[in-house]
Amino acid sequence: MTIDWLLRDTAAPSDVAPLSEYLAGSAEGKLMLPFCAACQHPLDLDQLHCDECAHQVRVWQIVEPAGRVTVSIMMNRVDARYVKQEAAYPVIEVSLNSGHRIIVSTSTVSDAPIASGTEVRLEFVQVGTQYIPRIINTAVKG
Ligand SMILES: [Zn+2]
Repeated sequence: MTIDWLLRDTAAPSDVAPLSEYLAGSAEGKLMLPFCAACQHPLDLDQLHCDECAHQVRVWQIVEPAGRVTVSIMMNRVDARYVKQEAAYPVIEVSLNSGHRIIVSTSTVSDAPIASGTEVRLEFVQVGTQYIPRIINTAVKG
């Protein structure tokens, strides 16, 4: 996999709960996200109680790495401890087809936001020893 253009190794996520299942999937190039075990409602990575039915057990499933941009901003805060770029970079919220929301950037260098509503697909890049999802830029420009 490609080394991330944006984040330094120091920004790699830690392989601890609740991220262990997510990162294990990412290492295999699969987007693994939690759902409520009772009603199948999509959950946030750190969400332990279902909003819909209050159930407290979740299951992890591979989801399609595709969705639609809900909001995209340019991040001007540059922190050299974690970020390689000195210029502003896009931070993008994607509403996945699975119903999950995920906040990512692009898989290659970008200096522009992505319009809300744009359909995108994700791939994985390497940060330190971990893998994280990024929007495939070619899908953005096409
Ligand atoms: Zn539920």
